[in-house]
Amino acid sequence: MSRFLCDSMKALAPYTPGEQPTEKKYIKLNTNESPFPPTERAVKAAEEAAKSLQLYPELDGGKLRSAIAESLGVDRDSVIVTNGSDEVLNLCFKAFCSPKSPAAFADITYGFYSVFAGYNCVPYEIIPLKDDFTLDVNDYIGIDKTVFIANPNAPTGICLPVSEIEKVVSGNPHNVVVIDEAYIDFGGESCVGLVKKYPNLIVTQTFSKSRSMAGARLGFGVACPELINDLYRLVYSTNPYNLSRLNMAAGLAAVEDADYTRRNCAEIASTRESFSRELKALGFEVLPSLANFVFTRKEGISGHELYLRLKAEGILVRHFDSPRINDWLRITIGSREDMDTLVEKLRLITENLL
Ligand code: PMP
Repeated sequence: MSRFLCDSMKALAPYTPGEQPTEKKYIKLNTNESPFPPTERAVKAAEEAAKSLQLYPELDGGKLRSAIAESLGVDRDSVIVTNGSDEVLNLCFKAFCSPKSPAAFADITYGFYSVFAGYNCVPYEIIPLKDDFTLDVNDYIGIDKTVFIANPNAPTGICLPVSEIEKVVSGNPHNVVVIDEAYIDFGGESCVGLVKKYPNLIVTQTFSKSRSMAGARLGFGVACPELINDLYRLVYSTNPYNLSRLNMAAGLAAVEDADYTRRNCAEIASTRESFSRELKALGFEVLPSLANFVFTRKEGISGHELYLRLKAEGILVRHFDSPRINDWLRITIGSREDMDTLVEKLRLITENLL
């Protein structure tokens, strides 16, 4: 840290992303990426767009914004397109919270919420999940704070029905409620349909998981036009060209190839179910997940030890060194072949054969 860093930034506790090894020696199941490549149409569209890189990209999300809106059945001015959904989440902290207007989120959820809060000097209330890691929506009614809920939640994978989310949104009419649907395409029901009814709801989604485009950095938010205007006000005050020509072109092609996304999501959901069954057969506890990962633990072996032993066997999974979830591992659903290899390694480890 240099002596020039201002005091408020000295206190930051930055987010720790999952390991991103550069060598290809691991089966990588630690950062919830897709095992499938992006649609060929996205690759071609990005190549074509590269020919015009001397020009600034379109403003305001360009054609991509309209295509996303159309695919969701909302108006273009109800959508904001951002550099990953992390950008729209950060904008929400900046726009709707302040030192006098705190945020609230669960104790076990996406680790970036507390980082964004710190970055934007926003105090926050941590609301513990229940013992079984489910979220009780009653804890969020009338709390007079900007609410952030990941649904499905990460790293648990547990998903609330739209009717429960609606209770939180209608129960906080004077605060914005942000529903982070980064993993919604793997079996959950989106609450995007509620944005026409509630002027305080923002739903965020990403191209990083279901559309196999984590490397592109593309996300979006859906809300009533007033909230979207607020967020664009911030974009225009920091980085009006927040998306490159390459990621917008690739994103548009991905939206247009919705069948490809649907097929991949169905395959991942089906692999998740068979993998969960196999884990249970080996004596693991597995939370019911509707995401592209599962959260699991095995009595008698610590999460950290299992993580290290899998790493030694060439498989990377995610371990969080935090209270309550120390014994658990988050495992991304990869290809069937990769999951078979993992199950075999887990069998050998648990039978003390490795
Ligand atoms: N929300 C959740 C719950 C996530 O796990 C992630 C991915 N780390 C994000 C948002 C952000 O994803 P991205 O910026 O790649 O869209």
